Amino acid sequence: MQQWLSRFWNRVRGLFMVHLKSQREIDRLRESADLVGRTLAEVARHIDVGVTLTELDAVAEEFIRTHDAEPAFKGYQAGRKEFPNTLCTSVNDAVVHGIPDDYALQGGDLLSIDCGVKLNGYYGDYGYTFGVGTISEEDAALCRTTYEALWKGIEQADEGNRVGDISHAVQSHCEAQGYGVVRELVGHGIGQSLHEDPQVPNFGAPGEGRRLKRGLSICIEPMINQGAADVTTDSDGWTIRTADGYPAAHYEHMVVVHDEETEVISTFDHIEDEIQPPYDIDAFQGTPTR
Ligand code: MG
Ligand code: MG
Repeated sequence: MQQWLSRFWNRVRGLFMVHLKSQREIDRLRESADLVGRTLAEVARHIDVGVTLTELDAVAEEFIRTHDAEPAFKGYQAGRKEFPNTLCTSVNDAVVHGIPDDYALQGGDLLSIDCGVKLNGYYGDYGYTFGVGTISEEDAALCRTTYEALWKGIEQADEGNRVGDISHAVQSHCEAQGYGVVRELVGHGIGQSLHEDPQVPNFGAPGEGRRLKRGLSICIEPMINQGAADVTTDSDGWTIRTADGYPAAHYEHMVVVHDEETEVISTFDHIEDEIQPPYDIDAFQGTPTR
């Protein structure tokens, strides 16, 4: 009963206010983020031509469970449908939320993998777009711009700024290069729930939206299309796909706002120890500074 009451209270509170995290909670979120990074690195080691998406999913699920955590997406409910797997695996024109199946990876594929865990009651959630074998220059440029946009957003995630500053930075960087910015899905707060307030759209105006305060933990996650911004949902109820069939990319980091310097608590380092990034690192505009 008490648990029910506390869950109910958290839900009511979530409607009115954003939950700012204590130092202890931030420590927990760091541990969850670290496990996501190590899971993604383990998956990265297995990405190869001929490997199926369900094989990658099994690698991730086993890794998470052997580290005393639970896959956060498995059983996640949206409407009446539960997400059936550990990873979201979205290939080429799939943007996000792809359900792992027996598709065998081919050279030149773009593979976006999103991974979530629940460890000690706190969630971790981030993702990376991989290139399988050699990818086209156009696809590499899409990955690079999406990755750059993620960092443009992170650079705006300072205390006193507003959510719209992040949104605008992501949108303007991608649209200036002719890419489509997905509107239907957004970044989000994270903590003891996978998706908390505030929403963090990848489009918007500077100076608008909620003010960023110390202790705010959010996921910034540009979903960027090579063609137009429009997307459709597959009949599986989950897979989001570009309407025009052009490929898409998705990078996601977890960020905590502090009064001094904002902290990125997720990292792609473990992944990039295993694989070559799909984007040309020398052409990267600006270096990640945090
Ligand atoms: Mg997310
Ligand atoms: Mg995610």
